Amino acid sequence: MTERGKSLPTIALEELAGCAGELLVILENLDQLLPFARVLRFRFGQSRNDTGPVDISFVEGSVSQPHDLETLKLIRQRSKMVIAVGNCAVWGCVQGSCAQKYPVPEMLRKVYGDDTHIDSLPSAGIDNYIKVDAKLSGCPINATQLLAVAASALRGHLPYVIQKPVCLECKYKENVCVLVEQGLPCLGPVTAAGCGALCPSLGAACYGCWGVCEAPQIDAMTSTLTDKGYKYEEVRSRLTTFGGSEKLFGRDETSAAGASCITAE
Ligand code: SF4
Ligand code: SF4
Repeated sequence: MTERGKSLPTIALEELAGCAGELLVILENLDQLLPFARVLRFRFGQSRNDTGPVDISFVEGSVSQPHDLETLKLIRQRSKMVIAVGNCAVWGCVQGSCAQKYPVPEMLRKVYGDDTHIDSLPSAGIDNYIKVDAKLSGCPINATQLLAVAASALRGHLPYVIQKPVCLECKYKENVCVLVEQGLPCLGPVTAAGCGALCPSLGAACYGCWGVCEAPQIDAMTSTLTDKGYKYEEVRSRLTTFGGSEKLFGRDETSAAGASCITAE
C-alpha cells in the first residue's frame, strides 16, 4: 500500500530463452521502481514469487521451445499489459536470425547429432504468438528508456518508445560519420535509436543490435554499402543478424546481388 492507502500496481519480470541481460538491467534499477510498484514475480531476483494476475508483465527472451510458448500464453492470461523487453523478445535476436536462415531440424542435427531428442521451435519475438502492448528493444535495454516506459505503464498509459534511427542520436552528439568519412559498414540509418549511438561515438560501425528502426530504408542502406564495396550477402547477413526479418528484403535476391555486388577488398 502507498502512504495514501492506495494499492500499488503489480508487476512481473518474466523470462523465456535469453541471456538475462534485460533482467540484470531491471535488477540494477529496481530500487527506482519499488516505490511505485509491487513485484509479484521475479524468479531471477527473488525467492518468493506469487502466481496471481498482475497489472504489467515485462518479458525477456524469445520463444525457442514449446515450454516457452506455454509460459508466454500463461503470462498473457495473467497480465493486463505485456511489455516485450530486449531484442530477443522483440525480434528473436541472433537465434531468430539463425532460424530464418536454416531449418531447425538441420541446426539440431549439426549441433547435437542425429540422435537428439531436443524439442525446439524456430526462435521468434513474442508478438508472433501473443498480443504485445509495447516493445522496448536493446541488447541489452537502456536503463533510462526502461524507466520511462515503466513510468508510463505504471500510470496505465501505453508507453511510447522512440523508433527513430541511431543516426539521429549520432548527429545530436556531433560525431563524424564513420560510414561517410571512413567507409565503415555502419547500420545506424536503419537501426532503432536508444543506445545513444554508442558504437559510432567510439569510432566503430553500428552493427544493428537494437533491431530495426521504423520504416527502415533497407534498399538504400544495401545500395550504399554495396557501392562501398561490401558484398550483397555480407550486407544482408549484417542487416538480419539481430533478428531483422528476411521479409525486409522485398526485391529479388539474385538480381539485386548481380546488379550491385562489388567484391570487398
Ligand atoms: S556514423 Fe553511423 S549512426 Fe552515425 S551518422 Fe553515420 S551512419 Fe549514422
Ligand atoms: S551496435 Fe548500434 S544499436 Fe547496438 S549499441 Fe552499437 S550503435 Fe547502438
